Amino acid sequence: MAAARTIIVAGAGIGGLTAALSLAAKGFRVIILEKAERLEEAGAGLQLSPNASRILVDLGLRPRLAARAVTPEAINIMSARAGGEIARLPLGEAASLRAGAPYWVMHRADLQAALLAAVSDHPDIDLRLGCQFEDVTSHAKGLTVVQRRGNARQQELATTLVGADGIWSAVRNHLFPEVQPQFSGLIAWRGTLDATTLPREYTSARVQLWMGPDAHLVAYPISGARQINVVAIVPGTWNRPGWSAPGEANELKSAFASQRWPATARMLIGAVDGWRRWALFTLPDIGEWTDGAIALLGDAAHAMLPFAAQGAGMAIEDAAVLAKCLSEGSGDNIAGIPAALKRYGRQRRGRVLRVQRAARQQGRIYHLTGPLALARDLAIKAMGPERMLARQNWIYDWRV
Ligand SMILES: Cc1cc2nc3c(=O)[nH]c(=O)nc-3n(C[C@H](O)[C@H](O)[C@H](O)COP(=O)(O)OP(=O)(O)OC[C@H]3O[C@@H](n4cnc5c(N)ncnc54)[C@H](O)[C@@H]3O)c2cc1C
Repeated sequence: MAAARTIIVAGAGIGGLTAALSLAAKGFRVIILEKAERLEEAGAGLQLSPNASRILVDLGLRPRLAARAVTPEAINIMSARAGGEIARLPLGEAASLRAGAPYWVMHRADLQAALLAAVSDHPDIDLRLGCQFEDVTSHAKGLTVVQRRGNARQQELATTLVGADGIWSAVRNHLFPEVQPQFSGLIAWRGTLDATTLPREYTSARVQLWMGPDAHLVAYPISGARQINVVAIVPGTWNRPGWSAPGEANELKSAFASQRWPATARMLIGAVDGWRRWALFTLPDIGEWTDGAIALLGDAAHAMLPFAAQGAGMAIEDAAVLAKCLSEGSGDNIAGIPAALKRYGRQRRGRVLRVQRAARQQGRIYHLTGPLALARDLAIKAMGPERMLARQNWIYDWRV
C-alpha cells in the first residue's frame, strides 16, 4: 500500500479501534499506536444506541458482538421520591426494527475485544501495543510522528494523525495545550453482580434508571445477561484521573441513605462487592478539532458526562465521519487532507455539543430534590413512554 495512504491513529480505545476499521474499509493503511502494553479488561458497561450500533453492524461486527451484547426490552425510569417506576420506555426488537439497528448494552471490554479481533484480522491495520505517541512535525511530505516504546524512539511518515488518545490526550496537548479537562464534582461508582444471585425482577433484560436526591443509579445486564452492571453517580471531591480506583462501599451506602432511597434501590447498592470509582471529567468546547493534517476524535475532542450514554457512541460516529471525509476529500492527494479534516470537524462539532448539553441537563434533572423532583415525576408520567422515547430520535436516527 502506498505510504501516501498511511494514517496514524494514537489510541486503541473504542474510538481509535473504530476509526482504524472505518479508515481501512475505505482503503487506507492504518498504524495504531497504543501506549498500554495490553488492552485491559477494565471498565464497566456501555449502552450503544442505534446511531452507534448501526456503524458497528456496517463494519461487520454483529457476529462478534451478538453473543455478549444484550438487547434490553425497556428502559424503566424509577424515582426514589415515588418509591418505584414512573415510566417504562419500550426498546427490544420492535425499537431495533424501527431504528434499523439494535439498542445494545454490553461490557466495555467485550466491545473493545470485538473491535480488537477485527483489527487484528485486517491486513491493512498495524496495531502497536506498548507504543506511545510522543511528538509530531509537519512538512511538505506530510507528517513525521515520533513514537516511544520503552526508551526507544522511532519515527514514522504519515499523511494524517488522528488523536484518539482519550481525555488526557497527548495529541490534543500538542495542538491546544491551553485546553484542560475539568472536574465535574461528580464521581461514578461501578460494580457488577452475578445475575443468578438476584431475584428475577432485578435481572430481566432492561435498563433501570433510578433518579434521586443528588444522585442516580443505573443497572442493566451485560456479558450475555450473566452479569448486572451497576453504576451510581454521586457528588464528591475525590478527583484523580483513571477508571478503576477501589471505592469504599460504606461511603457509597451513606449517599443512598434509607430516609431518601427505597429498599429496592438500596438492595442493588448493597449487593455489589468490590466497587470501583472514577471521577467524571469533561472538556470545554475546544472550538477547532483539527489543525492541518491532525484531527482529534472521541474523548480527546469532547469528553462528556455519561448521562446521555453517548460517550462511546459519539466516538464511533466521529470515526465513521472522519473516514468518509478523508476518503471523499483527499484520496492520494496530501494537499486535500487539511480541508477534508476541517469538513469532519464542522460536521461533528454541532451535534456533539448538543449531545454534551443534553447529558448535562439530564444529570441535573435526575438529581432534583423536593418539589422540583415531584414536578419532574409528574411531567414524565404526563408525557408517556412513546413521547419520552421520541425525544431521543434526533440522537438514535442519525446516519453517517
Ligand atoms: C480503561 C478504560 C475504562 C473505561 N471505562 C468506562 C466505563 O466503565 N464506562 C464508560 O462509560 N466509559 C468508560 N471509559 C470511557 C469510554 O470508553 C470512552 O468515553 C469512549 O469509549 C470514548 O473512547 P475513546 O476511544 O475516545 O477514548 P478512551 O477509551 O479513553 O481510549 C484512549 C486510548 O488511548 C490510549 N492512549 C492515551 N495516551 C496515549 C498516547 N500518548 N499514545 C498512545 N496511546 C495513548 C489509552 O491507553 C486508551 O487506550 C473507559 C475508558 C478507558 C480507557
